[in-house]
Amino acid sequence: MRESKKFQKRSEDFTCEKCGAKVKGTGFTNHCPKCLWSRHMDVNPGDRASTCRAMMKPIAAISYGTEYVLVHECVKCGHRKRNKTSPEDSMELVIHYSSKPLKD
Ligand SMILES: [Zn+2]
Ligand SMILES: [Zn+2]
Repeated sequence: MRESKKFQKRSEDFTCEKCGAKVKGTGFTNHCPKCLWSRHMDVNPGDRASTCRAMMKPIAAISYGTEYVLVHECVKCGHRKRNKTSPEDSMELVIHYSSKPLKD
């Protein structure tokens, strides 16, 4: 018998596997506003087609004027992705990561 557990909800409320915070999904954000960790879900933005599903750690934040973009790196496959920050994100942490040099 196949498992009937529904584990892919489109509304995307999720519990952060890094810090345990309950995150309310907006459909745009897929990272935790408390610790900024994300999850490798997409092949193309928003498609949730990745089979990796590993955690993605924030490695840097890049500022574009007043906006910040977080760079996440998958702990399993090394895939890198940029994510816009949202107003709920911990600004303290965003600034912390923005001071980190991005190594290529
Ligand atoms: Zn978290
Ligand atoms: Zn991955």
